Amino acid sequence: MPEPKDAAARRDVPPVICYPVETLPQPDLPLYQAARAGARLVETVTVAPRDAATITVPGGCFLRMSSVDGPQVGDLNLFAADDLSERFYSGKTRALHGTHITTGDRMWSSFPHLRPMATVVEDTLGWYGMDQFGGSVHDVIGTRCDPYTGRLLSGDDYHYCCHSNLTRALATHTGLPLAEAEMHVHDVMNLFMCTGFTRDTGQYFMKASPVRPGDYLELFAEIDLLAVLSACPGGDCSTVHSSDDAACHPLLMQVFVPADGALDGWVPPARNAYSRTHGV
Ligand SMILES: [Zn+2]
Repeated sequence: MPEPKDAAARRDVPPVICYPVETLPQPDLPLYQAARAGARLVETVTVAPRDAATITVPGGCFLRMSSVDGPQVGDLNLFAADDLSERFYSGKTRALHGTHITTGDRMWSSFPHLRPMATVVEDTLGWYGMDQFGGSVHDVIGTRCDPYTGRLLSGDDYHYCCHSNLTRALATHTGLPLAEAEMHVHDVMNLFMCTGFTRDTGQYFMKASPVRPGDYLELFAEIDLLAVLSACPGGDCSTVHSSDDAACHPLLMQVFVPADGALDGWVPPARNAYSRTHGV
């Protein structure tokens, strides 16, 4: 179709933010950060390369996820510890906070709960911002690497994609059969992963993560959480994923508990108050 005469004018219409966040309840970051300063380490779990591991984080505690031996990205699933139906909702998180998350942003839960599950309190890669390609880190636009897409594109079965790693780890933690655990695995927060969309074709891209050993992202658990983290077979995602070709490294998960009284005045967020009557 030829362009209409007013094509340029139509393209020049300025964008409108879908979800202005001025009325979004804001986290009390100074309170969280003060509580973190006096918190003590209570648990450490290492995620092996091309595998996943679980850790539970009580509400009011902190989860630090760190790069250790070399550049490595991770795929994170979050669940309410007592209810697998309440899980991280990457689509709504990106609608509220944008394509990538950093300090002050929150990870929201699925309908009908829709409440903050976790708040980012520290991000050592916060300096990265948005690069010249439109890339940034800690993506909530990707899904997770998975054996189904791999099968479609290559015809091979590869068993150590993040989707399968998360499935195995969740099955082991819960005792659920593998096929049942798989149904709870959801689109992830891509820890340390540097991604964006190409400006010309709109395609999802990845590039070598700027993460280095010692970098971390730290979350404040707003509710009791079960976190499942996969060390992606893509390694730093500079070349390929969904195979054993990339150099992979472990990731570290650590839980910190604040001192008694450090969170006075904080209450866990309630589930969303919508009536659920849907007009009936
Ligand atoms: Zn992956």
